[in-house]
Amino acid sequence: MHITVFCGSKPGLDPDFILAARRLGEQLAQRGHDLVYGGAKVGLMGAVADSVLAGGREVIGAIPKALVSKEVAHDGLTKLHVVDTMHERKAILSGEADAFIALPGGPGTMEELFEVWTWRMLGYHHKPVALLNLNGYYDPLLAMIDRMISAEFAWSDLTTSLIVANDIDDLLNRLEAAR
Ligand code: AMP
Repeated sequence: MHITVFCGSKPGLDPDFILAARRLGEQLAQRGHDLVYGGAKVGLMGAVADSVLAGGREVIGAIPKALVSKEVAHDGLTKLHVVDTMHERKAILSGEADAFIALPGGPGTMEELFEVWTWRMLGYHHKPVALLNLNGYYDPLLAMIDRMISAEFAWSDLTTSLIVANDIDDLLNRLEAAR
């Protein structure tokens, strides 16, 4: 599969996050998957890309011109699309994907996750979407999702349409089965 990964452009405080980003990259390569991501060399994004490349698989990046210097575009990718707008970047990140994974990250990661997840619920695509809840990082978000359901702003398909896993092997097993 081509798997699009959304994750922090920063490494985050918890050292387990960067270790998990590297391990996800290794596992993607070992399982024969290629990576699609936002094209940066920094943070968790750079760590996933480097380990997929080290595992001998392809990595496709997409980054808007304005972010090339800010996020330090990765210069060793199989292919780097430098585009004009964030919308073009996101069209590549979703169009090239067979499945999506979100690792810990900040507001950009959240925005990207919510777009592909809500679009799946609306039936615009049928690709699996998975969230790695490493060390409970996303517990407050999962509580907010439960709140949306109990407040009747969303139905329980909100949770059935999102694979939530605490470790990488479980996440990839469930993502591959869903595909
Ligand atoms: P962050 O999780 O905030 O570190 O951002 C992760 C990635 O999401 C980075 O490559 C950002 O450029 C990107 N990003 C930030 N804001 C947005 C947004 N509104 N839509 C799509 N991507 C974004």
